[in-house]
Amino acid sequence: MKLFNTLTRQKEEFTPDKPDQVELYCCGPTVYNYAHIGNLRTYVFEDLLRRVLEFNGYVVNHVMNITDVGHLTSDADEGEDKMKKGAEREKKTVWEIAEYYAQAFLEDMDRLNMLKPTKKPKATDHIDTMIEQVQKLENNGYTYVGENGNVYYDTSKFEDYGKMAQLDKQELQAGARIKVDKNKKNPADFVLWFVSSKHGDQEMQWDSPWGRGFPGWHIECSAMSSKYLGDQFDIHCGGIDHIPVHHTNEIAQAEGASGVKPWVKIWMHGNFLVLKEGAKMAKSEENFLSLTRLVQEGYDPLDYRYFCLQSHYRKELAFDWDGLDAARTGLRRLKEKVLALGDSEGKLSDKYMTSFTEAVSDDLNVAQALGITWELMDDGEVSDEDKLVTIRKMDTVLGLKLDEQTKFELPPQIVQWILERNEARAQKDWKKADEIRLKMEVSGKWMVKDGPGGTEVRPK
Ligand code: AMP
Ligand code: ZN
Repeated sequence: MKLFNTLTRQKEEFTPDKPDQVELYCCGPTVYNYAHIGNLRTYVFEDLLRRVLEFNGYVVNHVMNITDVGHLTSDADEGEDKMKKGAEREKKTVWEIAEYYAQAFLEDMDRLNMLKPTKKPKATDHIDTMIEQVQKLENNGYTYVGENGNVYYDTSKFEDYGKMAQLDKQELQAGARIKVDKNKKNPADFVLWFVSSKHGDQEMQWDSPWGRGFPGWHIECSAMSSKYLGDQFDIHCGGIDHIPVHHTNEIAQAEGASGVKPWVKIWMHGNFLVLKEGAKMAKSEENFLSLTRLVQEGYDPLDYRYFCLQSHYRKELAFDWDGLDAARTGLRRLKEKVLALGDSEGKLSDKYMTSFTEAVSDDLNVAQALGITWELMDDGEVSDEDKLVTIRKMDTVLGLKLDEQTKFELPPQIVQWILERNEARAQKDWKKADEIRLKMEVSGKWMVKDGPGGTEVRPK
C-alpha cells in the first residue's frame, strides 16, 4: 500500500510497525456545535483510510478524541473558548453542550456509515495524562511560565519545530502567522496550561502544579494518542488546516516529552470542502451546512458520502447542490443495478478485484475505484452472481450500502403532511389532499404518489 506522507510530501510504501495491526489516531471534533459537512468530509476520508487498511488485511486500532475543553476560536491561543461560546449561545452548561454535540456527531458518523473508532477518549477525562506530559516537557527543559502564569512551550528549544509544515526559522521569528503575545519568548510559542488569562471565568477548571486552570488544545491530542498508541505509532490524520499549528505543536510536545523520534511515521491530511461561491465553510461562521440540513432538503446521507468519494482526499472539493444532485443520481443508479442482480453469490472477479485493490491501495484513489465498480456493473461478460459477490466486497471499502434498499429520513414537516393528507383522503376531502400534495411537491425535492398504505413520498 502507498500513502502520501505530509512529512516527506511523498507517496510512501506503508508497512506498520506490528505485522498485522495499524495504530491510527485521528483528531476528533470540537463538540460545541454540529459538525459541518466540511468536517464530515475529513471524517469520510479517515473512514476510507480505515476501511482500505482493513480491506488489505490489517486490524486497525483507531483512536479519535473528543475535544470538550481548551480549543479557542483561533488555533494560536487567541479568541474565545469554543465550548464557552456554545454554552452562552444556548444558555446551557459547557458539560451539557459537550454531551449533546458529541452525541450528535456520533449520529452523523452513523448516518454516513462510518466505522466507529476503537476508542473515543474525551479530553476532560484525561486532564491527568495531559498534566503528566506537560511535567515531562518541564523536566526536559521545554517550558517556561509567562508573566500571566500560563505555561508556555518554548519552540526555540525544539530543533525540528515547524519541520512538517516547512515553516522556516525566519518566518517563525517574524511571527508572520501569529499575533505576538507579550508573554511569549518566541512568536510561535504556545500555551500548554492556562491559569490566568481572559478565560479565567471558565467553568471547566482543574488543579495543576502551575495553579488552577485548563489545558491548551494541542496537548490533549499528543497526550491521549501517546497514552493509547505509545511513543511511536503508524498514522495520524486530520484536515490540512492542522498542519501549521496543531500538528506542528503536537509533534513538538510528544517528541519533546518522550525524546523518541519520529513520534508518528505517516501524517495524512484531508483537503478542504469549500462552497462553490468561494466562501470558506467554518463551524464558527454562520454559513455552514450540517448533515441534518441535507436530510431536510431530501437527500440521503449516503448521497453526501458518494459525493465525497468522487474526488481524491488531497484535492479541494467544491460543494454545491447540483453536485450533490448528481451524486444522488449516481448512487441511486448504481444501487438499482446492484439490486437487480438478485441475491445469489458466485465467485469474486479476479480482474475487477485486482484493479479495485490497486486503485484503493494507491493513496486511496477511491474515485478511480468507484469508476471500476461502474465498469464491473456494465460488463456483460461477468455473471450476475459474480458481480454481486464482487460488488459486496468492494462496498466494504466504499461503505455505500449498495445492496440495501434506501431508507431515507423524512423531515418532520413532510411526515406531518403525509398524516394530514391520509386523513383528508379518508374523509374523501380530495381538494385538501391535492393541496397537501402540491405543498410537498413545491418544496422541489419530493415525489408523491398514492400507494396501498396511503401517501408515499420519496426524494426526486
Ligand atoms: P474541529 O471540530 O473544528 O476541530 O474540526 C474537525 C475536523 O474537520 C478537523 O480535522 C479539521 O481539520 C476538519 N475541517 C475543518 N474545516 C474543514 C473543511 N472546510 N473541510 C474539510 N475539513 C475540515
Ligand atoms: Zn488533534
